[in-house]
Amino acid sequence: MPVPVATRRPVAGLLGLFAPSRCLACRRRAEPPWCRVCAGRVSPLPAGCARCAAPPGGLHRCWAPGAPVDATVAALDYRGVVARAVVTAKVTGAHAGWRALGEVLAERVVAAGVDADVVTWVTTASPRRRRRGVDHAELLARTVAGATSLPVLRLLEAAPCRDGSDRYRAVTALPGSDVLLVDDVVTTGGTARRAATALRSAGAGSVRLAVIARAGTHDLGS
Ligand SMILES: [Zn+2]
Ligand SMILES: [Zn+2]
Repeated sequence: MPVPVATRRPVAGLLGLFAPSRCLACRRRAEPPWCRVCAGRVSPLPAGCARCAAPPGGLHRCWAPGAPVDATVAALDYRGVVARAVVTAKVTGAHAGWRALGEVLAERVVAAGVDADVVTWVTTASPRRRRRGVDHAELLARTVAGATSLPVLRLLEAAPCRDGSDRYRAVTALPGSDVLLVDDVVTTGGTARRAATALRSAGAGSVRLAVIARAGTHDLGS
């Protein structure tokens, strides 16, 4: 018998709250995000293209000229230890893990001197959030906002599509606002593009994307 939505427990989220501190990559006891051994294997992403955060050197296909994302900050390369950590944080809904990953991202955002009127995040459609027990990008955004002393607001609403992706709409008008949009990872760029499009449609003057990690140097699409 289906369990009524109101009585479902965000089990992953609760486990994330009370579980002992572990390395997100190898699960050894350690303060998240990673233990000393894994920390040595983390691959920072050297500052490269300001628009899409592709590392310097070599060819890359950037955001298309008309894409709604003006700039991208990515702290790490999405592979090995970093990829394992992000997947583990998603599966366990580890609040402490997301906050620790948020600190990694915040450090990079501060170093890049990113300015904005407001910080927001790529929200997760509610059925998926209930299952995970956490809107992880919100935890990242709040950590970034704390480090940059910028205001943080939920500006996006997400609804699940049949193909498994989310579609977005802005919850308020944003005339001329410069928005810092936070998410965990940019891979194909599809999610960021849809979220940024919603912000631009609401009047945002610019959208800068900040993610923990960028996957590869491929085309982020238009
Ligand atoms: Zn480890
Ligand atoms: Zn680029």
